[in-house]
Amino acid sequence: MARLKLKTKHRYLIPFNPKRIPHTFADVLIIGGGIAGIRAALAIDPKLDVIVITKDQLRESNSAYAQGGIAGVLDPLDDVSNHVRDTMNAGKGLCDEETVKMVVKEAPDRIRELISYGAEFDKENGEIALTKEGGHSHNRVAHALGDATGKEIMRAMREMVRSRGNIQIWEKTFNIDLLTHQESCRGSLVWNPYHGKTFVWAKQTIMTTGGAGQLYRETTNPEIATGDGHAIAFRAGAEVRDMEFMQFHPTVLYIAGGARYLISEAVRGEGAYLKDCTGYRFMEDYDPALELAPRDVVSNAITNQMSLTRHPCVYLDLAHIDQDVISERFPHIAKVCTGFGIDIKHDLIPVRPGAHYMIGGLTVDEFGATTLPGLWAAGEASSSGLHGANRLGSNSLLEGLVFGIRAGEGASELAIKQDDSFTVIPLESTWGNEEQLGEDLDLQDLRNSLTSLMWRNVGIKRDA
Ligand SMILES: Cc1cc2nc3c(=O)[nH]c(=O)nc-3n(C[C@H](O)[C@H](O)[C@H](O)COP(=O)(O)OP(=O)(O)OC[C@H]3O[C@@H](n4cnc5c(N)ncnc54)[C@H](O)[C@@H]3O)c2cc1C
Repeated sequence: MARLKLKTKHRYLIPFNPKRIPHTFADVLIIGGGIAGIRAALAIDPKLDVIVITKDQLRESNSAYAQGGIAGVLDPLDDVSNHVRDTMNAGKGLCDEETVKMVVKEAPDRIRELISYGAEFDKENGEIALTKEGGHSHNRVAHALGDATGKEIMRAMREMVRSRGNIQIWEKTFNIDLLTHQESCRGSLVWNPYHGKTFVWAKQTIMTTGGAGQLYRETTNPEIATGDGHAIAFRAGAEVRDMEFMQFHPTVLYIAGGARYLISEAVRGEGAYLKDCTGYRFMEDYDPALELAPRDVVSNAITNQMSLTRHPCVYLDLAHIDQDVISERFPHIAKVCTGFGIDIKHDLIPVRPGAHYMIGGLTVDEFGATTLPGLWAAGEASSSGLHGANRLGSNSLLEGLVFGIRAGEGASELAIKQDDSFTVIPLESTWGNEEQLGEDLDLQDLRNSLTSLMWRNVGIKRDA
């Protein structure tokens, strides 16, 4: 396991003058309003004052874009031990077994809890419909709205969190840096268009800022996924680990000039073939599980086949699948593809891999505590040991829920015991002066260079 701690004299990203900045106080501050952040907020004692900040609107998160579903053993013919084994196999021997057991065991309860919040999962004969994805030995992926599971789950969760009187939600509020004092986290410096820079002092802080797909030229992730939480907590002295493990999703719609859009693994789960530009079903050459091999295997196979055929993509073929199944299961994918003149029932869908899921992150223990006192983490920003070197599909919404609760409860328990004076710390003039800003940078140029560099040198093909 690769672990890393920052050694630098640059503690804060930007200079600021504490005397000119408004101050706000919370018992618990949650940075991020995806599935992990909202679940953490709901786990906090209602007596406590909670602030949740999100850099865009609350509805904009990786969680809201989840397509395929959430994994959990709900079929009596399946067993928790199968889900554990599949997760461990996908993780290439680097999963933490105790964490896997704990998360997988809780999965059915977490799915039922989402239903109690009002989330409506797709049904078959009155029961929750379950599908299969790559690396899963049984049908255990619950889905909603066909292929827009995240949209439905997050709708229900947003309604729950907005109904809680103790939770304020600050949208369009950007977390710049964590505030630290005596080697513990005391809240954060944020910016929003209404108040400018603001100190949010908090007894306990939970980092749930999600992933980092936007660091790559090709990605399935929305614009908010820029790895901020990883960098912010790293600067504050928290340990990160396994940052080399970025998961690449094998099938991202490839239309030159068009936005990259995920074509869910569930499409292969329902039987779609992968073919190269000559029409050859090439997965036969790579893995006995064919199109349902784990994601790293399929992504590598596609990259290899693109290079062998000297063609910029491969294709998904659904023509042999029952047309009613396609309409029912993939309404959103069909709509997006139609926009590009592709009828998914008959036409081949051009795809290639894209950066999808940041496996590495802030090291957390089984309760979601990071190595920095006062800071907790959950979801994609964290590294709990669940995914090992490769995440099993549909395990991440689950992880966000399981660790969201744990981090929320842990932060809540400590915050209740802490005195309000804990949040006030001496202002140090050494924090810098707002006038000390350096030269302007061409951010678009920097971003283009960074994403290309990451794609070329920190991409799918690896060496030691
Ligand atoms: C297209 C797509 C499909 C997917 N499909 C599935 C699936 O079917 N099943 C599954 O299990 N997983 C799926 N995943 C992965 C899963 O959606 C994510 O791993 C998970 O939702 C992450 O949840 P999170 O709460 O950790 O982060 P997110 O949901 O990404 O939330 C991050 C939050 O942090 C906020 N934030 C970020 N930086 C800052 C900052 N600097 N200041 C303030 N706020 C900040 C954002 O505004 C946002 O509110 C998919 C991912 C994508 C992109």
